[in-house]
Amino acid sequence: MADTIFGRIIRKEIPARIEHEDDLCMAFHDVAPQAPIHVLVIPKKPIPSLAEAETGDEPLLGHLVFVATQLARKLGLADGYRLVVNCGRNGGQSVDHLHVHLLGGRALGWPPG
Ligand code: 5GP
Repeated sequence: MADTIFGRIIRKEIPARIEHEDDLCMAFHDVAPQAPIHVLVIPKKPIPSLAEAETGDEPLLGHLVFVATQLARKLGLADGYRLVVNCGRNGGQSVDHLHVHLLGGRALGWPPG
């Protein structure tokens, strides 16, 4: 896949406010937060979108979600939060590297636009 801004963040070529890093993923604060807490959890494996996950990626996908739950706890989102994965053009995805948005710190509206 083509390199993206998130690939550059993983390689530490550009700065980010990193909350978590392990062998499989990295989590950092969104540069344009849509809620008081807005963190992106991304796999180090360059999967372009959720639609392009492959057989064998199941544990990695679960890991991303589990890390998000641990970050929600760490960041004090005891009143709740939302995980969002935008996928493809109609899903509103703008960076072609799979990412899970963790949003919280205020009441979030529903349905999304
Ligand atoms: P998407 O629209 O693809 O679901 O989400 C991409 C997210 O990446 C957006 O919320 C956007 O603000 C965030 N973003 C884009 N470029 C950067 C960057 O260079 N650094 C950080 N921390 N976030 C970014």
